[in-house]
Amino acid sequence: MSASLPFFRYHPDPLASGSIRAASETCACCKGNRGWIYTATFYTAQDVSGRLCPWCIADGSAAERFAGEFTDAYGLDGVSEEVLHEVTRRTPGFHAWQDPHWLVHCQDAAAFVGEVGYAELAAHPEALDQLRADMRTAGWHDESQLEHFLVNLGEGATAMLFRCTVCGTYLAYADAS
Ligand SMILES: [Zn+2]
Ligand SMILES: [Zn+2]
Repeated sequence: MSASLPFFRYHPDPLASGSIRAASETCACCKGNRGWIYTATFYTAQDVSGRLCPWCIADGSAAERFAGEFTDAYGLDGVSEEVLHEVTRRTPGFHAWQDPHWLVHCQDAAAFVGEVGYAELAAHPEALDQLRADMRTAGWHDESQLEHFLVNLGEGATAMLFRCTVCGTYLAYADAS
């Protein structure tokens, strides 16, 4: 069934991430009931009476109609205007404690894979190394405290895992409540 869903380059499996779910629900934008509904963030100053279908996200009509964005542009540095537009206005966001944001690699936005704990993160050592380096830069100077935080990811704090759309490298950022 999911084969009929629109494809999102920067969020290729929104069913796995829980951003899109099967639901018999009327879309606030096209008023259609397509059997799938978007469940995560949408930032708009307007009143939106209901949730949105994946098709109105994919073609940009929901973002245009409600002058909204699914994701903040924060972190999307060094990408083209087209990519910025596609990620913020034509890509499903995701559930996070803090405002969700996208990671960049190879001067392109990375594809969101999902929320993961330590075990899944450790399956991609390059993502774990990069997160460790980012956290040191962010001020985590106590190595044992840092490792304690990392191995406990999945309980309270989680990691948001991405995969570079160009070179395939995995990368992540930590999300805490
Ligand atoms: Zn719709
Ligand atoms: Zn890359």
